[in-house]
Amino acid sequence: MNNNKIAITKIIKDDVKKAVFDALDLINAKILFTKMNMKILIKPNLLKPKSPKYAVTTHPDVFRAVVQWVKQFNPEKIITSDSSGTKKRGITDNSCKVSGIKAVCEEENVEWIPFEKTAREVYQVKNPLVLKEVPSSVLLHEVDLIINIPKIKTHGQCLLTCSIKNMFGTLVLELKSKTHKMFPNNLDFNCAIVDIYSVSQPQLTIIDGFYCQEGNGPSMGDVVKLDLILAGFDPVALDTTVCKIIDFNPGDVIHIIKAEQKGLGTTDLTKIDFLGENINSVKRKFKKPKLFEGFLPLPKRYNDFLEKIFIYSIIKFEKSKCKLCSVCWNNCPTKAITPPKKSKLGKTIPKWNRPNCIVCYCCAELCPHEAVDFKRNFIWSIFMKFRLSILEKIFNILYNLKRFLKIN
Ligand code: SF4
Ligand code: SF4
Repeated sequence: MNNNKIAITKIIKDDVKKAVFDALDLINAKILFTKMNMKILIKPNLLKPKSPKYAVTTHPDVFRAVVQWVKQFNPEKIITSDSSGTKKRGITDNSCKVSGIKAVCEEENVEWIPFEKTAREVYQVKNPLVLKEVPSSVLLHEVDLIINIPKIKTHGQCLLTCSIKNMFGTLVLELKSKTHKMFPNNLDFNCAIVDIYSVSQPQLTIIDGFYCQEGNGPSMGDVVKLDLILAGFDPVALDTTVCKIIDFNPGDVIHIIKAEQKGLGTTDLTKIDFLGENINSVKRKFKKPKLFEGFLPLPKRYNDFLEKIFIYSIIKFEKSKCKLCSVCWNNCPTKAITPPKKSKLGKTIPKWNRPNCIVCYCCAELCPHEAVDFKRNFIWSIFMKFRLSILEKIFNILYNLKRFLKIN
């Protein structure tokens, strides 16, 4: 199969269905329907219970359009599944409901089942970067075709969450926080994301670029109406394309680079056959997350050391917003957050134990009330404030040099 096609289509006057159908027809995605009565698994992004207006979860209109396109090929069954970010039972169901995806499933006769309610299977990772095994749902091998529908969002720890990062949701509930704990280093964590992706390897990806998040994504960012759909078969090329559209350097998104090294796709867009719109005609610069820690262009041991000194984030809980709901301390992978001794709404806040914190940003990502904020270490703040662009250029040169010399 020719997997080097990427379609970019514009959503005009909110006609999402046309943009999705056009994109899938342009790449001739129907060739994936190779037999009768196929079982299809659709994986949206259901990070947490948020209504579509916050652009945290896959938009229900995009999901509906994909389902309607799939139905043309008379599959035996369409199943949709995901697992939300926290380990609370019932949270994924609630995310599905609040996001509007559940209503679409009911209306379109799609079976909805959270990954945590399916039987589990331990998958062996081929050529592992850091993870030899990935426990996940049996659905990943029981279906004939997996369709990934990520949303374009910035991400405090990984810079971008899109095609590759979306499959982190195939880990059920508490396994996500365990993975954060297992890989406190950002480089290792990004490698784990790639290993997890490699287990499912969706054959088709349709990117929801309808409403996106810039700045402090993936859950507290500013909403951007980008009005785009991207479709393709190569997740690395798709995420690289998204970086170009939103003016990020793909080399700063560690999991994109590691996925290419693992053979999951290419960052070389000259090898890609673009259909529909071209990148330059749809560019829209996105604000980066203020939390994003640049990947320093040095060998790992120096990198870790310097990151700790120069780029340390400090967590702030906002008293006026915090509802003492327990989500942050129940989901912190390293128990770096504990409840206040006395629970008084508007007066007390959770306690942060800095030495235990691995700066995974899960607390900020999962807080239902946007009460968690991060501040940078003083030295790094000055660097960011004065935007010493010359230093940024040196930084980029060193980074590219490091890639060229393949220093790890
Ligand atoms: S900071 Fe957020 S998650 Fe933590 S207790 Fe307060 S409201 Fe809940
Ligand atoms: S305190 Fe927040 S950022 Fe630190 S380890 Fe816990 S969840 Fe992650």
